[in-house]
Amino acid sequence: MSTKSEPALTGGCRCGYITYTAASPPDEFTNCYCQTCRKLSGAPFLTFGRFPTSAITWTSGEKSLTKTTYSDMAERTHCSTCGSPISMQYKCSPATISITAGSIDEDTVKTTLPKVSEDIFVEEVEKSGWYDLPNDKVPKYSRFPPSFQKKIDAWRKTVLAPGSGLG
Ligand SMILES: [Zn+2]
Ligand SMILES: [Zn+2]
Repeated sequence: MSTKSEPALTGGCRCGYITYTAASPPDEFTNCYCQTCRKLSGAPFLTFGRFPTSAITWTSGEKSLTKTTYSDMAERTHCSTCGSPISMQYKCSPATISITAGSIDEDTVKTTLPKVSEDIFVEEVEKSGWYDLPNDKVPKYSRFPPSFQKKIDAWRKTVLAPGSGLG
């Protein structure tokens, strides 16, 4: 049998031009309160689900996925037609891709999704003056969680190493 199994969920942008399927559900959700996420969403934070990169298939509109980089360590995409933010991928972690939770079509979800498990870059929203962080049990980090910061630091060393071609 070569029948392809049903995707765990599907998603896309607001105008419907960009669509994707995910072969497996995200293993975690993160709220990012950094200034870039606030500017792009117009809201206190953006929520991302982390998927294996190989699990995501762009089913339409891949060419109108506009890529942007606001830092040297990650690349984001959005729909060039409606502006919906779609993904973010860290260069230190090419095997995973973060997809905006709001782009998921909830009526297609086949499994129980995990709840948001961390709030990151909360120090940036605390400066806003107009938003109080929720008093909940979700762990809150000033910037990246220490384990991910280590990963970024290790990646940076590799990129900047003599002979790597980038230094
Ligand atoms: Zn769109
Ligand atoms: Zn952010």
